[in-house]
Amino acid sequence: IKKELIKAEKFNVVSQLAASVAHEIRNPMTTVRGFMQLLQGDRLSQEQNTFINISIKELDRAQEVINQYLSLAKPQTEELEEFSLTSAFNESVEVMSTYAAMNSIEIKKDIEDGLVLKGLKLELQQVFINILKNAIEAIKENGEITAAATENKDGKIMVTIKDNGAGMPQEQLKSLGSPYYSTKEKGTGLGLTVCYQIVKRMKGEIVVESQLGNGTMFTILLPKHT
Ligand code: ADP
Ligand code: MG
Repeated sequence: IKKELIKAEKFNVVSQLAASVAHEIRNPMTTVRGFMQLLQGDRLSQEQNTFINISIKELDRAQEVINQYLSLAKPQTEELEEFSLTSAFNESVEVMSTYAAMNSIEIKKDIEDGLVLKGLKLELQQVFINILKNAIEAIKENGEITAAATENKDGKIMVTIKDNGAGMPQEQLKSLGSPYYSTKEKGTGLGLTVCYQIVKRMKGEIVVESQLGNGTMFTILLPKHT
């Protein structure tokens, strides 16, 4: 128990530092990205345009790392709102459908109408997006993702995101959510850390089932707003 505590405190300091640094870095990065985009075009050779493209992509990746740090370090004083889980989830799936289509992956939806939650809509959408992104990245070919939301028999809102991707061995499941844990060459290992933290704040839980070679299912259980 003691060990866990020390780890948690350390992480808190790290996220506070990250938040202030992130704000300072974001603005110049946005400027650089803007000028890179202005540089692009017919005046440059194809090779030069490719280099700029790569630079912009890498800038976006750095931006993503920063965004994930920021959501870890967010103050917890924001006003909670009542919102439609149905539309929040639908919108998140829509956002990721483009990324999925680029990878020839179909996302099937089975989302119940009229589900309502209390919390921060944008934060929960970040959870859905991070998990959907991982699902897409776990798939090599003939990809299919099933996104479903319903009220379960215990009166909880249950969201499931299932993929037929690479899956994970059982011992890997224990590491999920630890900061910086990633098996990807260019991963941040922060996506799930953010998810676990947000869902915990909403007094919900995340359950992961996975079979190596067959795929993974993330289940997010949340208390219903009454
Ligand atoms: P990142 O995506 O940057 O690696 P995450 O925190 O989002 O960081 O995920 C951590 C790790 O969990 C991934 O690197 C991957 O090994 C594993 N993982 C997460 N989701 C899935 C999934 N749907 N299928 C297989 N592995 C997954
Ligand atoms: Mg990820």
